[in-house]
Amino acid sequence: MNPPGADTVLVRFSGEVGVKSRSVQHRMERQLRQNLKQMLARHDLDVSIEAEHARLYVHTTPEEVDAVAEVTARVFGVTSVSSVREIDPTLDAIRDLLAETAREHYESGTFAVRARRAGNEEDHPFSSTDIEREGGAAVFEAAQASDIEPEVDLDDPDLTFRVECRPERAFVYVGIQSGAGGLPLGTQQPVVALMSGGIDSPVAAWHLMKRGCPVVPVYVNLGRFGGVDHRARAEEITQQLTTYTPDGFTMWVVPGGDGLEQIAEETERYQMLLTRRYMLRIAELIAEQTGAVGIVTGESIGQKSSQTSAAIRVTDAVTDCPVHRPLLTLDKHEITDRAREIGTYEESTIDAGCNRLAPENPATRPPLATVRETEPTNIKRLAASAVEQAEQCNLEAPGDNQLLQ
Ligand code: ATP
Ligand code: MG
Repeated sequence: MNPPGADTVLVRFSGEVGVKSRSVQHRMERQLRQNLKQMLARHDLDVSIEAEHARLYVHTTPEEVDAVAEVTARVFGVTSVSSVREIDPTLDAIRDLLAETAREHYESGTFAVRARRAGNEEDHPFSSTDIEREGGAAVFEAAQASDIEPEVDLDDPDLTFRVECRPERAFVYVGIQSGAGGLPLGTQQPVVALMSGGIDSPVAAWHLMKRGCPVVPVYVNLGRFGGVDHRARAEEITQQLTTYTPDGFTMWVVPGGDGLEQIAEETERYQMLLTRRYMLRIAELIAEQTGAVGIVTGESIGQKSSQTSAAIRVTDAVTDCPVHRPLLTLDKHEITDRAREIGTYEESTIDAGCNRLAPENPATRPPLATVRETEPTNIKRLAASAVEQAEQCNLEAPGDNQLLQ
């Protein structure tokens, strides 16, 4: 819902970026701006970006303002966006635009006008209360003229008209859309993201991206132990995550079949645990090659026998690279809700065939020493050779229109 003629997106990012030291703040703002520019350019959105007081103004056209707002809201580091129209900082201009906006958007229910004024008395011969009173009257009259019964509710209005008045210009807007939040992507060092093609792993990777870490997605092909379409599904989900990046990912697809065969020969009881340790070995090797400083997985305590608190102790011990588990304490329905919000849920639920790696009686409280003893002696070499044979695929971020699904 925009004021008529809105042609600028107001981007707020103060949140955490705003509380950093000046030099860190500058670096973060620079990165955010660069990511934003790249993401908009990819969608063929031609804009000019202006920075002012911990905010950005993205100037575009009324035709493209919604698309610009949608792309901008996906940029990590952005806390919220509003489509605004810029006018002269006079009471007349503000009143006129509020009336025009009311004619377009006020159909029923209650309303309020909220105003903020920056500057001193020489800049404007009126206060923010004057704007609210006069602006409120303009909305009221415009509504009455359109045969709507207006009602003011300052506590919990159905529709809020907002005005920001600065020394050289004023802005009017009605909506505030939440942004992705977090820190600009690229302001932290990268991590390897283990992507299974399920619901959890893309959500986990997204959380690390939200905190500024670029990710190197890794899918381990399970050979005869996996479903036929697992790889395609993992790629499709990862592709979905590219909509949050300026330039997509290089995804690693690692042929893990030989390692799994070997593990299955040694043990049934500890099969899952050894598989998880094997995947972490693979992830660690890829981290070394790509300069990544951590590994992220979609594990959640107790979700599966290989994810009990005791199992995590056993799997974690295989690497000294930190393993980040942002979903550790979330319930499945909370993860599913988040997957829906970020747009990865649909792909995650595509049927990818059965998974035959499911022992009858898996260990839930495994002793680390026993698991280590059971591990095939050549597992390190198998992991290294799987990584050597890995395929690297470029997953490009989507271009024009693909985002607006
Ligand atoms: P997800 O957790 O992604 O929904 P899942 O629940 O089927 O899938 P789990 O068995 O719970 O997967 O595995 C836990 C974590 O291990 C996953 O979140 C993912 O990070 C990693 N993982 C599992 N399978 C693979 C795989 N084939 N390739 C890469 N990573 C994997
Ligand atoms: Mg899972």
